[in-house]
Amino acid sequence: MTTPSTPEITIPAHLLPADGRFGCGPSKVRPEAVQALVDSADAARGGPYLGTSHRQARVQFEVGALRNGLAELFALPDGYEVMLGNGGTTSFWDAATFGLIDQRSQHLRFGEFSSKFADAAAAAPHLQEPSNLFAEPGTHPMPVADPEVDTYCLTHNETSTGVAMPLERPAGADGLVLVDATSAAGGLRFDPAEVDVYYFAPQKCLASDGGLWLAAVSPAAVERIERISGSGRWVPASLDLAIALDNSRKDQTYNTPALATIFLANQQVDWINQNGGLEWAASRCDRSAEAIYGWAEGSKYATPFVKDPAERSHVVATIDLDAAVADANIVSRVLRANGIVDTESYRKLGRNQLRVALFPAIDPDDVVALTACIDHVVEALA
Ligand SMILES: *Cc1c(COP(=O)(O)O)cnc(C)c1O
Repeated sequence: MTTPSTPEITIPAHLLPADGRFGCGPSKVRPEAVQALVDSADAARGGPYLGTSHRQARVQFEVGALRNGLAELFALPDGYEVMLGNGGTTSFWDAATFGLIDQRSQHLRFGEFSSKFADAAAAAPHLQEPSNLFAEPGTHPMPVADPEVDTYCLTHNETSTGVAMPLERPAGADGLVLVDATSAAGGLRFDPAEVDVYYFAPQKCLASDGGLWLAAVSPAAVERIERISGSGRWVPASLDLAIALDNSRKDQTYNTPALATIFLANQQVDWINQNGGLEWAASRCDRSAEAIYGWAEGSKYATPFVKDPAERSHVVATIDLDAAVADANIVSRVLRANGIVDTESYRKLGRNQLRVALFPAIDPDDVVALTACIDHVVEALA
């Protein structure tokens, strides 16, 4: 197979965004956070940090600050705690099949990521066949109380399709509510009282790197973790949430974490909290969302993929392009050649589409600039 060459189109400098990173993960890391990491080598600022033991005070301080900062960011109710461990969200799914799902889970399946956790639960030999509630890509189902289900598995933002859903306990249900918030945490509003486990990785709204999972857990979730841990079920130690909880409470992880990832996540949480917290970050994402969806609705060739405005994500926008006017893959390639990266759609969705992250680190003015760049490229291609 030969790849068609990328048309030579130069976007005028005055149209370009200040920062061309619009990927959904790993996503834009603020230069100020990277500079702070460089500065952390200076002993006078409480460092050196990188290259020091994760069992010593300097790193524990950083982990503690991240746990406290997240509790503040989410306004966690009394008794909720922040846990962390290695392996990112995908590892957390495996940990949850061992340490959170008691017998049977219910999964809302409306895209790639929500389906992956459902598949992990279905494959676990110690669990019953999960219950699956489906919705067409571009929409979402709602959880439904079921006496046979002990764990409800929601996804705050389905990154593959750009659909966000409200977080509410299903009426009359007494199971735990687990929420994959990997691309939502820190950018979308929610009420923590409606969830028991709000888990994520820091390479999206937290503008850090991957390989770590974080989870805000309710007292009921802690009780479940402790009960399953005492039940005799075999759990590999690296996926054991009781071990993770024990380490988290000491501001540590079971095995060595990536110190830079923790530091950069902490920088982002601190930046958001200093500027006004989750409401401030979510408002910034609202502005970016208004810019891109407003532009698409007024465009002759672009359309928001998600039909219902209430379901349109304010952290990940998916925009269909009229195939008769422009090939989205070519548009993404031309943008990339001009320093605007990672606007490609989620491949398995198979649409003529651009996907654009609107995470808090991304400046809403840069999203406005991006729309002008897309118009320029499409016009030049015509
Ligand atoms: C990115 C993403 C994941 C995967 O996260 P990893 O840390 O790479 O395992 C899972 N769920 C959602 C919703 C995501 O956006």
